[in-house]
Amino acid sequence: MGNVEYDCIVIGGGIGGSASTLRAAQYHLKTLWVKGTRKTAKASRGKYVLNIDNMIGVHPDIMLKQVKKSLNTEEFERAIQHLNEETFHIGTQEIVDNVLERIESQYSELVTVKDLKAVDIKKDGDIFTVQLQEKPDSEQLEVVTGSNVILSTGVMDTLPQVKKTLKSGREVDDIKWVFPFSNLERLLYCIRCEGHLVISGAAAIIGHSEVACQIGLMLKERYNVPITMVTNGESLEAEDTTRKLMNHHGINVETSRIVGFDDQETGEEIIKKKAGSDLHAIILEDNTRVTARYGLVSLGIYKVYNELAIQLGARLENIDKPDELKRVLIEDYSAETDIRGFFCVGDMASRKDGGPSMMQIYTAQEYAVRAVDTIERRHRKFQRAEILK
Ligand SMILES: Cc1cc2nc3c(=O)[nH]c(=O)nc-3n(C[C@H](O)[C@H](O)[C@H](O)COP(=O)(O)OP(=O)(O)OC[C@H]3O[C@@H](n4cnc5c(N)ncnc54)[C@H](O)[C@@H]3O)c2cc1C
Repeated sequence: MGNVEYDCIVIGGGIGGSASTLRAAQYHLKTLWVKGTRKTAKASRGKYVLNIDNMIGVHPDIMLKQVKKSLNTEEFERAIQHLNEETFHIGTQEIVDNVLERIESQYSELVTVKDLKAVDIKKDGDIFTVQLQEKPDSEQLEVVTGSNVILSTGVMDTLPQVKKTLKSGREVDDIKWVFPFSNLERLLYCIRCEGHLVISGAAAIIGHSEVACQIGLMLKERYNVPITMVTNGESLEAEDTTRKLMNHHGINVETSRIVGFDDQETGEEIIKKKAGSDLHAIILEDNTRVTARYGLVSLGIYKVYNELAIQLGARLENIDKPDELKRVLIEDYSAETDIRGFFCVGDMASRKDGGPSMMQIYTAQEYAVRAVDTIERRHRKFQRAEILK
């Protein structure tokens, strides 16, 4: 434990990584935060959380109320009016940026931050050696050592392909057409945190699996809004009872390919809108116009960023899927894997005993804190033993 650069190396610049780093700093552990690169961030789901509204306490109005109170004099009347007209939001980027600012201002002597990608990890005895890279294919690797590693490199969702025809007549079948709608929360990916948004109107579930159908049913039962299943060219894989329930609730199934999204209401004067900021319908190849104020994408996980865990030989979920879709098994609430000193938190981790591991911000934060608790407890135990030798 003595002969390493860091007590704790945190890998991942999202929710789990920032929560781990802040806690490690607060516990006075010498920490390296490997935040990843712009490329790894773009490929992570945490980047696309614009507005968190399922966590009490994480709400812009809390500070806004105090700011308005402190400006409550005639002198600042215009400023208050301006604040009333603005829309504020807190997303994952705001949380991570805030943690970074706190780390840099309060803990710069304890915590080193690197915007690099961790590409290689080894464990030799008690020591982890991690190699960091700035750009893909760059031969310059930085090597760091630590006595513990917390990995929170996240996952990415599968995005729907859209078969779009350009003005030139060329067809481009790509996921990129969904980006504006995903970035501005018209296409939703997290049923638990964003599902409630559909209450404002009709919704389309983009997916074809039994899970997708169950999500459609759940939203119908919960909010009683019109629901359509859009399978995007796939056949529906619903069980008989699910189909019966869907028929009972009038859930339509459309199997034609998605060719575009319409942000205008039918029959209304056309209003120019920021791309992706509004949705009224999903347009299908057979010319069907599926009315939808929101689309909920239910196509499963595209990738779990578990390469480093695999390099170390950590145990993965025992499910019938390719390795890149398997989450890393953690032993219990401590978030430690079957490799001592190697912890996994956030969306990439799954409890060995099947215990709760919701893919949510508060889950990532709780397990991050538990991992650091374990590391710090062992660290002090080691120091005591040294003294008592
Ligand atoms: C659209 C959407 C909306 C959501 N809304 C909510 C919500 O309102 N409330 C809620 O509780 N949850 C929400 N979630 C879930 C929440 O985003 C996740 O649970 C949370 O971000 C998980 O944190 P994480 O640290 O596991 O991963 P992420 O936050 O995704 O972070 C992963 C990080 O790892 C970095 N990384 C990847 N590979 C490497 C590498 N090799 N080296 C270094 N760094 C690397 C990436 O750059 C990234 O910074 C939402 C999810 C989605 C998709």
